[in-house]
Amino acid sequence: MSTYIRKNMLLFILTILSSVIASLGYVFMAVLLQQLLDIAMDKNIHQFIRMVVFSIIYFVALGFSLYLQSLLSKKVICKIMLQIRSDVFQGTINHSIEDFEKKNTADYISVVTNDVKMLEDHFLLPLFEVVQYTVIFISSFVLMIYFDFIVTICVVAAIAVMFLVPGLIGGTLEKRQNKFSSKLADFTVSLKDMLSGFEIIKSYSMTKSVIQRFDKVNSETIQSKYSVDKLLALNEGLSAFLALMVQIVVLFLSAYFIISGRITVGTLLGMVQVSSNLANPLIMIFTNIPKMKSVQPIIEKLKNISKHSTIPSRKENADTFQSHISAKDLSFSYDGTTEAINGIECLIEKGKKYVIVGKSGCGKSTLIKLLSGYYSTYKGEILYDDAELHMLDKDSVVQLSSIIHQNIYLFDETIYDNICLHEHYPEEQIKKAVEDSGLAEFISELPTGLQYRVGENGSNLSGGQKQRIAVARALIRNKPILILDEGTSAIDMQTAYDIENRLLKIENLTLITITHHLDPNLLDKYDEIFYMENGHMKERGSFKQLINTPTSFSQYYHLKE
Ligand code: ADP
Repeated sequence: MSTYIRKNMLLFILTILSSVIASLGYVFMAVLLQQLLDIAMDKNIHQFIRMVVFSIIYFVALGFSLYLQSLLSKKVICKIMLQIRSDVFQGTINHSIEDFEKKNTADYISVVTNDVKMLEDHFLLPLFEVVQYTVIFISSFVLMIYFDFIVTICVVAAIAVMFLVPGLIGGTLEKRQNKFSSKLADFTVSLKDMLSGFEIIKSYSMTKSVIQRFDKVNSETIQSKYSVDKLLALNEGLSAFLALMVQIVVLFLSAYFIISGRITVGTLLGMVQVSSNLANPLIMIFTNIPKMKSVQPIIEKLKNISKHSTIPSRKENADTFQSHISAKDLSFSYDGTTEAINGIECLIEKGKKYVIVGKSGCGKSTLIKLLSGYYSTYKGEILYDDAELHMLDKDSVVQLSSIIHQNIYLFDETIYDNICLHEHYPEEQIKKAVEDSGLAEFISELPTGLQYRVGENGSNLSGGQKQRIAVARALIRNKPILILDEGTSAIDMQTAYDIENRLLKIENLTLITITHHLDPNLLDKYDEIFYMENGHMKERGSFKQLINTPTSFSQYYHLKE
């Protein structure tokens, strides 16, 4: 947090300065009241008129400085929030795929929205209040000594008791606030999950159970918030009570001193006014300090996410895919117990075409994700030319390939934006990608052509159209490796055939396809077929080699016919 304050130092100092001026102006109103009452008691009309003129100027200046202080503090908070949110988002985006997948997407949403907001409400706003009220408190204290020393001593004693309050509940409050933040994250995760399944909820009549599930997480979240609020209420109540005590002490002592002739009535009024400026700021300070302390774990959490935006990679760039990628004795488990793939050996040569086949769940997608650098916790070796994947910069490895999954993600923008992804490409290149991906005919039928908006995750398009956009998105980038993970499964047979056929003809492209469509004409065009079974690489070879011998692949192939 200090980094952000340092970044906005000038504005921050100006805010504090305006706050100091406004607070001093506010406190010295007590002197004004004291003088006014003493003038009234003297029945001095000339001094009274001078006082009225002075007061008008004084209050206009005070009003302006209060406005300035409020405006500047809002401006500095907005600037800091902007920077924090941007850093947290950059940190989130800069996660590796492996790290990102460790949490639910809604967890990240909750951090960028809920936690950052909590920082504003429980740290930045209280911080300015603490500064402002500290100034009010100190200047009131000095003024109190000026009015009467003995009353000040008694006030100090009452204040000493007030110091104990935040220390008593601060620790518990911090724990509860942390729990509330994680409940809030769970709430966002559940909400996203439920709304994402809207269609299923409707078509399977799940409304009742979904409402019950929502009510459960909703009430857990609110209960957690209430447990924080209960402590805050205790803190506020105790502080308010003690502050009231301070005022009562002042009032009774001053009344006694008027009777004994030690002070004037004007001084009593001045002291009552100042004592409220001693008590109320203390309430604010002692309710805000535990609040600020309680968000420390959240500040840590945000710091940890943001730091991803600044860690430079010390690894080599993966520009080393000149001849091949190979896997040696490669095994991997998602959960640390069951192996999704085991002892895989394979060689992918640059520019050649490979197809991976096998039953669902045999490890095909896992293998290509590992080869393209998604996960780092594998056993065995993955070599890019001769460099082990661990030695290479993960981001630049991921950059080498485009993967087209069965489930395509489209942004709620135009087809053009979804293909170019906000990068600039020459017209010719876009046209070629649109044609090679089989999109041309569909786009020519749209009134707005490439500028057609696809809706939330492409809801205005069919599965096949989405996949074609994904193919165009991949082709336009001319990356050396293209992976189709059942990437044409939602397209009609003929179009899928045409797209795959075109991809097979691109000379320098290394193509790896996972497919369940076993078309002999296409399979024959691949350099090698990898047949997988239960996480193992069971057989490898050309279509002709595998189909003309009694292999597991040929059995699988004939079953599928
Ligand atoms: P295929 O692509 O051949 O259908 P996958 O590689 O997707 O198979 O899956 C291989 C095994 O790993 C399956 O048992 C699957 O349940 C499991 N698996 C896949 N993805 C994950 C994941 N993200 N977390 C945990 N297990 C997974």
